[in-house]
Amino acid sequence: MTLTRIRSGSFPLKALLAALLIGLVFGQFIVAEPLENAMKLARNKLRDHAVSGQVVLVAIDDRSLAEFGSAPWSGSRIAELLDRVRAANPDSVHLDAALPGQGPSLDATRLEASLAAFRTPVTLPARFSIDRLSERRAIEPPARFTRHARLVNTNLYEEWDGRIWAHLNGAVVGERYLPSLAAFLAGRDDRSSRHFPIDHALNVRTIPVVSAGDLLGNRARATLLAGKSVVIARTDIGADHFVAPGSGHVPAAMIHILAAETLIEGAPTNAGWFPPLVLAMILACLILGSRRRSVALGALAFAAVAFLVGPLLLETRHIHIEVTAALAAVCVAATARLIRSLRRSYQTRGTINIVTGMPNLQALRNTTDESDAIVVTARVKNYAHIATTLPPQHEKDLVEQIVARLKFGTGSSVIYQADEGVFVWLSHHAGEESVIQQIEGLHALFRSPIVIATRIIDLAVTFGLDADENRTILQRVSSSLVAADEAARDGRRWASFNPASLEDAEWSMSLLARLDHAIDNGELWVAYQPKLDCRTGEILGAEALVRWTHPEKGQVYPDQFIGAAEQGGRIERLTEFVLDTAIGDVASINARGRPLSIAVNLSAVLLGNDSLVPLVEGLLRKHKLRPNLLTLEVTETSTMGSEARAIANLRRLNDIGIELSIDDYGTGFSTLEYLRRIPASEIKIDRSFVTMLHTSQSDRIMVNSTIQLAHSLGRKVVAEGVESQEILDHLRHMRCDFVQGYHTGRPVAFEAFLSRLNVKAGRQAA
Ligand code: C2E
Ligand code: CA
Ligand code: CA
Repeated sequence: MTLTRIRSGSFPLKALLAALLIGLVFGQFIVAEPLENAMKLARNKLRDHAVSGQVVLVAIDDRSLAEFGSAPWSGSRIAELLDRVRAANPDSVHLDAALPGQGPSLDATRLEASLAAFRTPVTLPARFSIDRLSERRAIEPPARFTRHARLVNTNLYEEWDGRIWAHLNGAVVGERYLPSLAAFLAGRDDRSSRHFPIDHALNVRTIPVVSAGDLLGNRARATLLAGKSVVIARTDIGADHFVAPGSGHVPAAMIHILAAETLIEGAPTNAGWFPPLVLAMILACLILGSRRRSVALGALAFAAVAFLVGPLLLETRHIHIEVTAALAAVCVAATARLIRSLRRSYQTRGTINIVTGMPNLQALRNTTDESDAIVVTARVKNYAHIATTLPPQHEKDLVEQIVARLKFGTGSSVIYQADEGVFVWLSHHAGEESVIQQIEGLHALFRSPIVIATRIIDLAVTFGLDADENRTILQRVSSSLVAADEAARDGRRWASFNPASLEDAEWSMSLLARLDHAIDNGELWVAYQPKLDCRTGEILGAEALVRWTHPEKGQVYPDQFIGAAEQGGRIERLTEFVLDTAIGDVASINARGRPLSIAVNLSAVLLGNDSLVPLVEGLLRKHKLRPNLLTLEVTETSTMGSEARAIANLRRLNDIGIELSIDDYGTGFSTLEYLRRIPASEIKIDRSFVTMLHTSQSDRIMVNSTIQLAHSLGRKVVAEGVESQEILDHLRHMRCDFVQGYHTGRPVAFEAFLSRLNVKAGRQAA
């Protein structure tokens, strides 16, 4: 069964078993009989039709009793009635009336004679009852009458609801097999004892009835009985009545006639509940197992028609089935499918990024694809920046364009959006090599800008990957993210996750706590890198660079913790420590008569801080250092130029007399406008342009033009990253003001710095 591939674990199987179990219970026990019967009654209403009229009831009714004496009638009265019936030439006659006892009587003799006069013997009723020893005991008329008659069985079977639904073909009464009256009337004496369902769609009111009184009073047309099967029986109020489903209380004879008419229509077969249940289970397989909803709905609709309308059609062909077991099984299957789809839709609700409609990490978690796929992550570094400047409705557009390129470059059909600007996919390629090739291709693809609503946007994308099959997909997703971040940090296109760096990850998780501890326990110290006059080579100042010597890990570099400190709210403490130490150290040098300025790095996150200016002022006062000997280096950031509070703080610092320097110039977002607004006296060209100065023409152009520009604006220029004499010569030639670099002096501890300056060691108390 291709349609019913069993999927998502054992759920459909369990539901199928439940459906089968419920079906069997409903079929085997009468739990659902009221429902079954109600449906049968409804169908009977639709199928209501007249009897054949082959069987005529001669009714000893209340009217007859009123006219000819109350019941029981004497033998001679019955004989008189029999004679009238016989005179009308019926096909057969059944007499169900109380007959005189065994003793010799004129009355009985008269009846006996009347019976004997029939050419086709009259049938007389024989019943059985169950006695205390569970033995069938025959109840039949006296032998003097049965001698001239045939016996038929007239038992009726009330079901648990007090109604008569089915009838017997015949029964063994005493020692003999007797056909039932119904079977006899229908001419179907086939010696079987099987039950058959009575067709209660036959309208009981269409049974032809002739009143016995009318016959006796000669008022009835005798032709009514000619060629018919005649049943003579009591229908008066004192007669036995039974409940016929759909017709209420009717005289017992009516039920016998209905049963006979059922057989005359065609012998009914009762197929029971099992065949419908088999069909139901096939449909349940479709409902539960089919991938497509339309198939399941189709199967459900088919089940509804098959089990609600089907029986109606079958009953017209005299086939009776019971459908509640089947319906119950189908209901269980449909409910199970509904529950599952609700559960799925509940699950998928959380698997889509609301803004972009992309599958997210939860969706990736739900995939069963746990294979050996290599997990690749693309991180758009400037995503947040782009997204905040785009109108909200265009973010989806941005993501779509990114995803389109990723799909094009990887051939992957599914790209997951893990976070803002973070995309993940699984690569089933042969190996890491080909994935890396793919990434290189992607990188080239992303070099051309995308266009959103006429805006041209450059994307900075780095990639991370993890091919370690021993880890789960989710672990690989996290580690590929870490790798992508590492790549971004190191300025590389991509990075592969290195399990050894797991240790690093553990380290970085507890970094903030360790940093607090480091500040409190003196693990932090300040290194000084000399800053020289480019022309004379004289040391005019130093840049303070924070250092961390961890007792076990050794040297921890600022790149590894400054970012975390900024994000974790520890940068203020750290800056205060560096400022305090550096101002104190330089103040002590100045106090010994060696004029020297000190540059301290100021994180951009602190620029908007209200306590910044009082802090710096306080430290200058504390160490008695002239403000113009302190330079604060600030890096250019996109927001800084526009943030009023940051600008105001910088102006106040400048007003106090503190020098400002624009650090890492050339790497960020600096514009002329920006340069004009920041009251900086100095520009520090980023070392990435300086270290390649001797080989790169474009770097030389960049550095040279920056120097020209700065000078034209009345600013000094510092070149950092001076690693050789050659570079130094270039810078001199370009009329650079100050230099800093490994060639002119590495960052060193205070004592080493002092000896470089030729100043006697030993700090002065503040
Ligand atoms: P930066 O402000 O650009 O500092 C200069 C960095 O370049 C220092 O790295 C220094 O050791 C290195 N360097 C100096 N000369 C050369 C050279 O000739 N060639 C090369 N390749 N590198 C050279 P460091 O100390 O690792 O500091 C890295 C960054 O950490 C600094 O970059 C600065 O942004 C930040 N940082 C350091 N100390 C502090 C601090 O106290 N506060 C704040 N907020 N940031 C700091
Ligand atoms: Ca700096
Ligand atoms: Ca720098």
